Amino acid sequence: MADLPSNEWMELLEALQRRLAALAADGMRWLNVAPDPAMAAAVEQDSLPSQGAPPDTVATPPAHTPAAKRPRPGEPAQLGIAMAEGARPHPASIATIDSLHDHYRDCLNCKLGAGRTNLVFGTGNDHPRLMFIGEGPGAEEDAQGLPFVGRAGALLTDLIKAMGLTRADVYITNVVKCRPPENRTPQPDEIASCRPILQRQIELLDPALIVTLGNAPLKVLKPSAAGITRERGVQFMYADWPVLPTFHPAYLLRNPAAIATCWADFRHAMELAYRQT
Ligand code: SF4
Repeated sequence: MADLPSNEWMELLEALQRRLAALAADGMRWLNVAPDPAMAAAVEQDSLPSQGAPPDTVATPPAHTPAAKRPRPGEPAQLGIAMAEGARPHPASIATIDSLHDHYRDCLNCKLGAGRTNLVFGTGNDHPRLMFIGEGPGAEEDAQGLPFVGRAGALLTDLIKAMGLTRADVYITNVVKCRPPENRTPQPDEIASCRPILQRQIELLDPALIVTLGNAPLKVLKPSAAGITRERGVQFMYADWPVLPTFHPAYLLRNPAAIATCWADFRHAMELAYRQT
């Protein structure tokens, strides 16, 4: 396997790390990276991989051929996971990601539903090689109905671009689809209520690799996990799907020194998701 990102990418990320560290040293706690013209310009440079295509050093990704043993759309889930669905029918018979979204558009299966502006189902490629799972929507996500569109989302988008991909190439969602009040961590009953949606998303999308962002999705897919600090970068299997945990972008905004470590995980994810099988 070729070395995926070029030195230019590493220099780009290291420059970003140095910049964030300098801002943090100056007392800045939050940074909106979305309108960062330097970063945007760097990503758009002709010498860098164009959006929508992997870096030159990456072999052309093969068409994603799901493993035959994985659940097919329309088939019942094989995992025996406890569901907390309330009165709603089991989603296993729902055959497409769009119909799954429609099925839950008005969901009130947990208390988070009453406080939302928009249900944030997920967005991206419906046959992705990479699926990112975060914790839950924040204020900006709740307002727009899209995942990872706030400050942390801008950083995730930049990291995806640095992989030579766009958000349209991957799929992005969260453990819970409605915003927890005051952006608190989702509670166990809320995660359990929303889990059938995430479960069916994974089955229908059938990604080559799942990347969990932060503690919440790691604990959902691997309840025995010690925590993201110890488990990040260590691949495990969730049923038939390989999973690579890494830090949540919001953590990177607060701890810019961790960006290089997270970028190493993203490089590893690229290798795993696009390797020839
Ligand atoms: S968080 Fe999930 S289970 Fe709870 S209301 Fe929203 S979509 Fe339904």
